[in-house]
Amino acid sequence: MMEKVGGLKARIEETKRRLGEKLLILAHHYQRDEIVELADFRGDSLELSRRAAESDARWIVFCGVHFMAETAAILVRPAQRVLIPREDAGCFLAHSVDPVQLRDAWKQLSQVLDVERELLPVAYVNTSAAVKAFVGARGGACCTSSSARQVLAWALERSPRVFFLPDQYLGRNTARSLGIPEEEIVLWDPHHPPADLSRYRQARVILWRGACNVHVRFLPQDVDRVRREHPGAQVVVHPECRPEVVARADEVGSTSYIIRTVQNSPSGSSWAVGTEQRLVARLAAENPDKTVFSLGDPPPYCAYMSLTRLADLAEVLAGLPLGEERGLVEVPEEVRAGAASALNRMWEAIGAGG
Ligand code: SF4
Repeated sequence: MMEKVGGLKARIEETKRRLGEKLLILAHHYQRDEIVELADFRGDSLELSRRAAESDARWIVFCGVHFMAETAAILVRPAQRVLIPREDAGCFLAHSVDPVQLRDAWKQLSQVLDVERELLPVAYVNTSAAVKAFVGARGGACCTSSSARQVLAWALERSPRVFFLPDQYLGRNTARSLGIPEEEIVLWDPHHPPADLSRYRQARVILWRGACNVHVRFLPQDVDRVRREHPGAQVVVHPECRPEVVARADEVGSTSYIIRTVQNSPSGSSWAVGTEQRLVARLAAENPDKTVFSLGDPPPYCAYMSLTRLADLAEVLAGLPLGEERGLVEVPEEVRAGAASALNRMWEAIGAGG
């Protein structure tokens, strides 16, 4: 018979008490409420990777998706261990690029560009460690949604062209915000590369054709509907949304930006939010003096973020007193070093040091 929620929570809390500062539980904003409630810290990708890097805990249990836990494993010290309660928690966007496709794209673009000298890769953190390592080995950097603008600006100061991957919408929205003209933003479709590659010579930003299957579901007509049905409501969206949605919104920013914007708005204000539904529902619950609802109808959930349940967290924690590291995330050293250099360049680009 399945263990009851109360019993699972009690077991998790008991292990937390027992291990004290040796244990750090991190939860992404899109996780289920019961997981977020038990975490020591909740945040977006940037905040969580920073927490992991600064922590002295022996075990960091990462409730999120795999690339996030992998990023934490790259940043922590050798004696620290990162564990993920659901090893199958992937990311649709991260799966849209692999190192073989990337190497292939690089090779094809080398027919028309001196790729080593005039093309700098920038990888969204929503990528595997192997993709980050490819980027790091070529002098490129990682970015998160909250650091994308600073990292893209940093890269464009160093190179005439940037290969931004894998989120085409984050890339286009960010390039537009930096004033890059449309004709200088060119898409790269890894499944259908064009026969004529000459147009990439005109590009300043080349975008990998990937997208998040949660944020892609918000459409321009959703914004139009909200404007019609909720006059006075403001629209705030994540930059992984389509550019046509971003163009119609009042505000655009990372999950942390969205949270701050709603929290700091005056009592009585009304917000249609274009991001993952668990965050939107939590925002609504935590801001009872405001009206907060999803921009989408129906509101989209991330299937991968939904995988982690209390029983999974309890299972990982149960192994620790027994000396078992269940759900251990390991990154081979040769991959770790390259990926770490790409992540460290992100800190450099945003002026945060190493
Ligand atoms: S919301 Fe999108 S980008 Fe985030 S983990 Fe889910 S699929 Fe990946």
